[in-house]
Amino acid sequence: MTVGRFAPSPSGRIHLGNILCCLLVWLSARQKGGKVVLRMEDLDTARCPMRYAEQMIQDLRWLGLDWDEGPETGGPDAPYFQSQRTGLYRNALERLEAMGLVYPCFCTRAELHAASAPHRGDGCAIYAGTCRNLTPAQRAERSRRRSPALRLQAPDQEISFIDGHMGSYAENLARDCGDFLLRRSDGMFAYQLAVVVDDAAMGVTEVVRGADLLSSTPRQLYLYQLLGLTPPEFYHFPLLLAPDGRRLSKRDADAGLEALQGRISAKELLGKLAWLAGFHPSGTPQSAAGLLEEFSWERVPMEDIRLPEGLFDL
Ligand code: GLU
Repeated sequence: MTVGRFAPSPSGRIHLGNILCCLLVWLSARQKGGKVVLRMEDLDTARCPMRYAEQMIQDLRWLGLDWDEGPETGGPDAPYFQSQRTGLYRNALERLEAMGLVYPCFCTRAELHAASAPHRGDGCAIYAGTCRNLTPAQRAERSRRRSPALRLQAPDQEISFIDGHMGSYAENLARDCGDFLLRRSDGMFAYQLAVVVDDAAMGVTEVVRGADLLSSTPRQLYLYQLLGLTPPEFYHFPLLLAPDGRRLSKRDADAGLEALQGRISAKELLGKLAWLAGFHPSGTPQSAAGLLEEFSWERVPMEDIRLPEGLFDL
């Protein structure tokens, strides 16, 4: 059975980009008669206080996008908050450590900045490998001054996959990405590790998310491979841009649901988003269930989608 998931980071009010994501997750899974899981990616607890997650749950209910397993509904893989699942990430990390693939990194932010080249997909830095070959004595000496982050050695190996929407994508992890973080120096587990552990544990069979995460997928596939887990299928959809071409973010208060809710009904909002995403030509108000018949991945464009001026009265 198809299992899709919506995995927002509740660090602010839900915005149009998240809503489009949730709609596509929902339609893609429901059209195949599948289930939807909701998981809160709140590992960064300072940025993701519980009230944002609660607000997001209310917003999704207002939108009529339901889930079968997750906060409030429960389910076999509870808890559905990453902040409560750290034991699972620790186990996975220990397995990778036992393979001899993890090393401590003592670089400061400034050192990282000075020695790195940007990664093509997400603008993150490609790590120069500074701490990879420290001797045990150097490691011991440095850990007295600074608690280290943990990195996974990236293999000189091309990882490729066929995205269900964007087609084929490949990266040589050593060259294009570099050794990547599994845990930050403050002890917070990295998104890349947590997302793989959770998607596998929750039986997710398809991951639908924005194209900004396309370039994370090879790292995740490598982790699936190392941990002996079966990867899901991936569908990355184009990003929504503000009318002036900027990327929408949670900081765009205008695109947040708070500003929209007073002016527009949930069906109007979904109808317009579905029109923007190419599968609802009339753009008329419609519920998520009412869009099931029209939705198909072929109709969704590949290029970023710029919000037309005035569509949401932003
Ligand atoms: N939590 C991530 C975000 O909100 C999404 C993770 C994913 O879909 O893999 O950007």
